[in-house]
Amino acid sequence: ATGDTRTITCKQLVDCTGNGTAAALAGFERLREKERQPGTFVYRIRPNADLSKFDAKELQARFEAAVKDGRLQRNDCRGSLLHYLQSGGNTANYVEGADNSTADARTETNLRGRAAALRMFRFLKDIPGLEKVRLESLSPEVGVRETYRVRGEYLITHEDYTSGRRWDDSVCYAFYPIDLHDKTSGVHPAHLQEGVVATVPLRALIPKGSRNLLVAGRCLSSDRLANSALRVQATCMATGQAAGAAAALAAQRGETPGQVPIAGLKALLTAHGAIVPD
Ligand SMILES: Cc1cc2nc3c(=O)[nH]c(=O)nc-3n(C[C@H](O)[C@H](O)[C@H](O)COP(=O)(O)OP(=O)(O)OC[C@H]3O[C@@H](n4cnc5c(N)ncnc54)[C@H](O)[C@@H]3O)c2cc1C
Repeated sequence: ATGDTRTITCKQLVDCTGNGTAAALAGFERLREKERQPGTFVYRIRPNADLSKFDAKELQARFEAAVKDGRLQRNDCRGSLLHYLQSGGNTANYVEGADNSTADARTETNLRGRAAALRMFRFLKDIPGLEKVRLESLSPEVGVRETYRVRGEYLITHEDYTSGRRWDDSVCYAFYPIDLHDKTSGVHPAHLQEGVVATVPLRALIPKGSRNLLVAGRCLSSDRLANSALRVQATCMATGQAAGAAAALAAQRGETPGQVPIAGLKALLTAHGAIVPD
């Protein structure tokens, strides 16, 4: 590889790479599944056609034929083709094996995502009545759902998550259903029971054995099922605020993030508008 090497020194570091890259570079353990959730290449098409004139079954038969003869791949459009057209494509595809944890993997994933969009576009253009279909927008990158999680001082389990477990060092809430996408069966969210609100302990943001390092976002320390819920944006933001506050306190006090007084951390977060577990 080529490129610049820069040295940056800091008292505390918060790894928000989504992949635990900084934690791994510092030698801390990351967890990775053999089979990971598929990614999705978000793009929008404009059919430029009166969709009420199309027969859903006939469209679906065309899709099946194109998958059979190799023009398309099954996960280029999951679900009904008519719905795909009605919703403008959007998030209808799966990019299997999507990975953005290295430059090479990221490039390869993006190439496959764009190829999938191009396959669909060419296929649609050949359908009588859809000749004027347009590709309206493409996301800059394939959205990647799962790569690595760090192993932290605590690892949040599925049982912890779904029971709404509280710890003394719970620093933020989480709320999302267990939401694991499968390349064959899709996603079947399992909602939390009414009244159950999951939380994240500070220790799940501290790589095991580290001193001046935190993580925030989807790479927090959790098992696969818990992570399928914890990975969403609101929780990523809440962990980012909590990790940032812990890092600031640790830097001020000359301590490690694991040593900062939890009451002081919660007070700092609350003073900045965070919603913090009691
Ligand atoms: C298709 C799809 C749909 C989703 N839909 C929803 C939804 O509807 N609602 C929801 O809440 N969540 C959704 N999510 C989940 C959610 O968007 C992500 O899990 C979340 O944004 C992850 O946030 P993050 O900050 O941990 O990582 P990212 O948002 O991935 O941020 C990591 C950042 O670090 C940068 N980075 C990585 N490595 C390096 C490096 N070595 N050097 C410098 N920079 C680096 C990256 O470029 C990136 O900017 C979806 C995810 C996908 C893939």
